[in-house]
Amino acid sequence: MSWPRRDYDQLFVGGRWTDPLGDRVLEIRSPATLETVGRCPEATEADVDAAVRTARQAFETGPWTRTAPGERARVLGRVAALLDERGEDITQLISAEMGAPPMMVRMLQHAPATAVLNFYAGLAETFPWEETRQGAFGQTRVRREPAGIVAAITAWNVPLFLAINKLAPALLAGCPVILKPAPETPLDALALAELFAEAGLPDGVLSVLPGGREIGESLVAHPDIDKISFTGSTAAGRRVGAVAAQQLKRCSLELGGKSAAIVLDDIDLDATMPMLAMAGLMNSGQACVAQSRILLPRARYPEIVEALAKTVAAMKTGDPGDPATQLGPLISSRQRDRVEGYLAKGRAEGARLVLGGRRPPEPHTGWYVEPTIFADVSNQATIAQEEIFGPVLAVIPYDTEDEAVAIANDSDYGLAGSVWTRDVEHGLDIARRVRTGTYGINWYAFDMGSPFGGYKCSGIGREGGPEGLDTYCETKSIMMPPA
Ligand code: NAD
Repeated sequence: MSWPRRDYDQLFVGGRWTDPLGDRVLEIRSPATLETVGRCPEATEADVDAAVRTARQAFETGPWTRTAPGERARVLGRVAALLDERGEDITQLISAEMGAPPMMVRMLQHAPATAVLNFYAGLAETFPWEETRQGAFGQTRVRREPAGIVAAITAWNVPLFLAINKLAPALLAGCPVILKPAPETPLDALALAELFAEAGLPDGVLSVLPGGREIGESLVAHPDIDKISFTGSTAAGRRVGAVAAQQLKRCSLELGGKSAAIVLDDIDLDATMPMLAMAGLMNSGQACVAQSRILLPRARYPEIVEALAKTVAAMKTGDPGDPATQLGPLISSRQRDRVEGYLAKGRAEGARLVLGGRRPPEPHTGWYVEPTIFADVSNQATIAQEEIFGPVLAVIPYDTEDEAVAIANDSDYGLAGSVWTRDVEHGLDIARRVRTGTYGINWYAFDMGSPFGGYKCSGIGREGGPEGLDTYCETKSIMMPPA
């Protein structure tokens, strides 16, 4: 399948299309066909300086920062409507950039991004922007004010959703934002900038600067940035957090995961397997919340391993343009090398390969790896401890539920998890015992009204819900005069 090209010659700086100050170009190739699907300028440090200057001016002089939240919410609502209207275009663009089948882009990116915009537009009415509290000695006005200039840095795996999950609350809070999309997926971020401009976002408030780690670092270290909102790997998050801490900058980090799906012995196999397989393999396993460790009760172990293998074997891997495809390619040859390194490690450390484990015979072009299941995996094995970010499931047997919970918790990560059972109350008990930021019973799903984020090395802070708006606010207490 081939795609219409999308070429940008300019950067979006403070709401205006602007010539880049450097001459480097990002050439974007489809991970499925390796054809060029578009290009755009790569931002330089000079572009970062220009964008920060524009944002600072907008922050100091308005109007965005001083408009009523309801007015800001109306712009978000207009962006949601435009995103809805152009849904098919943007879905095809993202699919071209990152190789995910359009059905997966709609489910994991377009629909949730629109919902997030509408959620925050609605929250403007009920959020406690300014409230009065009665203290021991008098009244206090507690105000939430914009945190300042935000650098939003995102990963490539669900680029539209990650960008909106930061832009919607940050803009609603009144903050100017500089978005740095991952160098693999800058085109949808620039397309999104067009929608914000069309929706009437004033000048100065939004910049989109495509580029890699260097540009990310210069944003993080820039003395005039007030708040970093970062989504990416735990390794990069440590570095970002360290630089931000030096300057006492506000910083939230959405990082990696190695989530465990605990399957209880009362499950209905036919009802469970398709959802469980999808929870582990969605987006070809390139999901921070992928349920990549599958914990199975020993009493039903052979039966469930066989059913899981049968379900995964039936998932169609291949051309994302084919409507039957469920799993597309990985994002890059580098990512495929990384995943193949883990496949070799799994074998070397003694796990039993049940399914996959190689490149599929077809398609011949593209960065594909077969969906893979390793069984009899020790939780201490590398493939059970490290985030693979590919279509690889590690199946781990357990004897008792206490042991299952202990295995789930025996991880540096704590982003997500799930439990699979006919008994919802029992599932809820398990959910309360696992140390992760989000959890699912009989599925794993995202809810924009609830906080999302990580325990332990999966991050600091929360996106989503009122918590996700609060993170872009400073809180001020004004003591009213004595009565
Ligand atoms: P990455 O850390 O390599 O890059 C993420 C982003 O950070 C990119 O835009 C990159 O250019 C930039 N970057 C890298 N190093 C930087 C630095 N030192 N300073 C500033 N910016 C820097 O991650 P990736 O490979 O693009 O994405 C995959 C990772 O993202 C996985 O670990 C995944 O779990 C994680 N992720 C987490 C969430 C979440 O919400 N918790 C969501 C999606 C992805």
